[in-house]
Amino acid sequence: MRSKLEEIRKNGREELEHAQSLEVLNDLRIKYLGKKGILTQVLRGMGALSPEERPLIGQLANQIKDELEKLMTAKSESLGREALRQKLAAETIDVTLPGRFFPLGHKHPLTLVLDEIKSIFTGMGFTVAEGPEVELDYYNFEALNLPKDHPARDMQDSFYITEEMLLRTHTSPVQVRVMQGMTPELPVKIIAPGKVYRRDDDATHSPMFHQVEGLLVDKRVTFADLKGTLLAFARQMFGEDRQIRLRPSYFPFTEPSAEVDISCFNCGGQGCKVCKNTGWLEILGSGMVHPKVLEMSGYDPEQVSGFAFGMGVERIAMLKYGIDDLRLLFDNDLRFIEQF
Ligand SMILES: [Zn+2]
Repeated sequence: MRSKLEEIRKNGREELEHAQSLEVLNDLRIKYLGKKGILTQVLRGMGALSPEERPLIGQLANQIKDELEKLMTAKSESLGREALRQKLAAETIDVTLPGRFFPLGHKHPLTLVLDEIKSIFTGMGFTVAEGPEVELDYYNFEALNLPKDHPARDMQDSFYITEEMLLRTHTSPVQVRVMQGMTPELPVKIIAPGKVYRRDDDATHSPMFHQVEGLLVDKRVTFADLKGTLLAFARQMFGEDRQIRLRPSYFPFTEPSAEVDISCFNCGGQGCKVCKNTGWLEILGSGMVHPKVLEMSGYDPEQVSGFAFGMGVERIAMLKYGIDDLRLLFDNDLRFIEQF
């Protein structure tokens, strides 16, 4: 029995020595130490031994069992380390590989232009004001000298919520709201950017578009101030050598009124496709605030004066970027949008 045990010890050591994987090691554990394992079976046969031999053999069997268990644990650890080492070696990080690309969004061309307009006017001391897009007829028309039966209302057909409430057709109602909120404080010096709505839909008109309103009310504001302000804007927006031209026009809420053109930045005024051979590009409408508007907003037209202007942001963007169809700005076609 003793020699049988010594043989088990010898074979066990050898087999463990050659075990090359955790799976093999596990099989060996079952083979030697499992419920039906070789060593277990020997120990079960101890009943046949004499009382003198029994403790000696038992002691030897336990020694071998301990030794094999220790060897197995050590082997298991070294095999585990080896497996991890191989796994890491296979997964080596190549620091020269390019990183993964995450596409970043960017600003819409209209937002770019709007930001630039805001930046130019805030640089001249204007503050940014906002007003509601769902507006009362009173602010959108009446307080701007456009009473109910005024023919100029036809040029701004809109979307009505009720008879007295509509989607604003221009940003001009913000003029009235700001003046009524500030009177009698001076100066009133704001721009009001925002969405406006009209019943139009073609290559150069959209039912929703953006305007920026400008308003300056103070003592002794003149037409020269209006012209100087707009010239400064045109030069910052479209280039230092731009000229502006004011053409007499009509708006119910300004008197006198003027359409403002800039000299064509594409041909410098020589005439080209962009300016339809006129050398000029229309960019906005403007004028001196009508005395009735000042009065309705709580200011005394004998004491103060002011100028106002309104420009279409889409129009400015189309000119600046050479876009020929306004609807492209709202199609959300990435092939278009990604060019800016
Ligand atoms: Zn031109």
